Amino acid sequence: MTAQIIKGTEIRDQILEEIAADVKEIKEKHNVVPGLVTILVGEDPASMSYVTAKIKTAKELGFHEIQDTQPVDISEEDLLGLVDKYNKDDSINGILVQLPLPKGIDDKKVLNAIDPDKDVDGFHPVNVGRLMIGGDEIKFPPCTPAGIQEMIVRAGVETSGAEVVVVGRSNIVGKPIANLMLQKGDGANSTVTIVHTRTKNMDEHCKRADILIVAAGVAGLVKPEWIKPGACVIDVGVNRVGEKPSKKNPDRMVAILKGDVDFDEAKEIAGYITPVPGGVGPMTITMLMRNTLRSLKFKLGI
Ligand code: NAP
Repeated sequence: MTAQIIKGTEIRDQILEEIAADVKEIKEKHNVVPGLVTILVGEDPASMSYVTAKIKTAKELGFHEIQDTQPVDISEEDLLGLVDKYNKDDSINGILVQLPLPKGIDDKKVLNAIDPDKDVDGFHPVNVGRLMIGGDEIKFPPCTPAGIQEMIVRAGVETSGAEVVVVGRSNIVGKPIANLMLQKGDGANSTVTIVHTRTKNMDEHCKRADILIVAAGVAGLVKPEWIKPGACVIDVGVNRVGEKPSKKNPDRMVAILKGDVDFDEAKEIAGYITPVPGGVGPMTITMLMRNTLRSLKFKLGI
């Protein structure tokens, strides 16, 4: 059996089209567009490229977007003041503080200062609590987990009653995706197990999975023989395993990326599988945009 490849790039394009259509309609009816601010402190190249990608997508969707770059030596007090300014800014529906923050700034304090109703990353304790309660309480599902769920649903995989096994228990992927899949509702209703470094017989858990979501950050952790024939395998892991010359510019070296699952072998056993790169990766920014749109819709009561 060769698995159906779930392409994040294709699902991203579909969702971005849906968001753009919604933005257009809201603009026509309410004369307002979603507003997103990204706060970047310092000039860390990786952070700069993440922020640039987010702002570029927001701009293409017709959002009101602000990239607010602050010097690396900004004080915690001034950064908190900036967050407060955007909390009060009516044209802003989503606030994103790019991590990591420089040493000396308590990132938890800064993230917790964001108005939970503008916390489009979904990491504020209030939004974590809302996710736990479920149903209509969920305002901003964290972006990577929301993207994973969307991929499973759009691939047509049955989630109700499915055995879902999540490898990894981080606050940004493992725990929230487990929470989303066990909710009572469409695209969920699953029976969920989370495994981690202290789990005994991890292979036995994985072998039971109808849907196996792997977010450990260990290249090749999940062996092909751990995969149930026909299962849906979502590989969240992004591991740099070397370098190669860029296709566009062979003088430049780019990272060789591998997932937590051996794709070539796993695709012969699974029913559905996501590639790395081009699988879960493209979904995260997309869901950030969707959360920003949701924030505006909540505000407008639509
Ligand atoms: P993390 O905070 O390091 O958490 C990794 C989790 O995996 C931990 O719970 C850890 O268990 C578990 N784990 C690690 N090695 C394991 C092993 N040998 N056996 C069983 N469990 C193991 O990582 P994260 O932030 O969740 O990210 C996970 C991966 O997803 C990374 O490769 C990251 O780059 C990728 N990622 C991708 C996206 C995207 O594509 N958009 C977004 C976020 C993350 P313990 O808790 O017991 O230590």
